[in-house]
Amino acid sequence: MDKVGFVYSEDFFKYNFGEHHPLQPIRLELTYKLMESYGLLKNSNLVIRKPVMATPEDLSLVHALEYIDAVRKYSNNPQDIVGKHQRETFGLGSLDNPVFPGMFEASSMAVGASITASELVMDESNGINTAFNIAGGLHHAMRRLAHGFCIFNDVSIAIQKIRVKYPNLKVMYLDVDCHHGDGVQDTFYNDPDVLTLSIHQDGHTLFPGTGFMEERGKDAGKGYSINFPVYPGTYDSVYLDMFKKHIPRIMVAFKPDVLVTQLGADTYFGDPLTQMGLSTSGHYRMYHLIRNYVKQYSKGRWIAVGGGGYLMSAVPRSWTLALASMLDVDLPNAIPDDWIQFYEQKHIDEPTPYELRDNNYRAEEQILKNPMYSLRIEERLDAIEKYVDEEVLPNI
Ligand SMILES: [Zn+2]
Repeated sequence: MDKVGFVYSEDFFKYNFGEHHPLQPIRLELTYKLMESYGLLKNSNLVIRKPVMATPEDLSLVHALEYIDAVRKYSNNPQDIVGKHQRETFGLGSLDNPVFPGMFEASSMAVGASITASELVMDESNGINTAFNIAGGLHHAMRRLAHGFCIFNDVSIAIQKIRVKYPNLKVMYLDVDCHHGDGVQDTFYNDPDVLTLSIHQDGHTLFPGTGFMEERGKDAGKGYSINFPVYPGTYDSVYLDMFKKHIPRIMVAFKPDVLVTQLGADTYFGDPLTQMGLSTSGHYRMYHLIRNYVKQYSKGRWIAVGGGGYLMSAVPRSWTLALASMLDVDLPNAIPDDWIQFYEQKHIDEPTPYELRDNNYRAEEQILKNPMYSLRIEERLDAIEKYVDEEVLPNI
């Protein structure tokens, strides 16, 4: 079996906007511990690597120099942002993206981890074809804008590095975070060799308010930006039907040399920031599908990064299941006691999860009982099917 790379460092916890911010670094620690409790980190096919911090040259593959300088400046002196005009803050210092000491280094480390993951996969000599950076997926960051908890766009930078080193390769980016992958779409909007596909809760109902089917790329890149905005409440079975129906066809048409996935877990039904209806069982089935598609349609190469997910009880389960899929390991559904103890010691204000793979039957029943909701979900999936048939596939 091919080896799987896992990039990890406790330095990831330094990407921390403070105790009242929804993006809590403890979700990464809980994820690591759950993977450890299940024995995945001792799997003979797993290779664990520490990340190397991204260099300013790496950052400049995607970000403007004045933005990089501003991040460095406010990272060294966070108080300097007080009273500054928007022109000088580039989205930093807002409620979503407060500045904190060490922000530059912590953000560069998240980027470096995605670069490390992509280098592990692209290196033909090490037997590693899949790699996972749970601290990545900062998909909202723009060229000169901090946006949606994201300072530097690790995914765009890692893909740009691949493009520089291997100019003849084609990259497909699949983003299953509940929010539109607007920053990555923006980076590659005119690039026909990087296809971006984001599946997310409709932008009329959720941040960042973009990701509509009409956003199709521009110039040479026209046709290579694809968006599936799904209706709130979309649940496992309909989501997975859509996934199976369209993702393989798009991969067959585009013929990527590598698949990059952003695995934000905020499509989970209880997520406090979103309104989707997936369960960890749904996530698990999706990860298996991705793994099979990678084998068949992207030369076995899979670079995976984390992303959103704001329930400390859900994210660790989802990403442990992702790693289990990558390693082709079946895990028992009862969560190990030592992890439960660890979780409870952290005094998290959420019920303790006991099942690795849960279901969302009750919410699904409620939606099915409400014909308006059910109809809207179905109508949207029909519209996506028509869009793929008539607009997406003929233009790849
Ligand atoms: Zn998200």
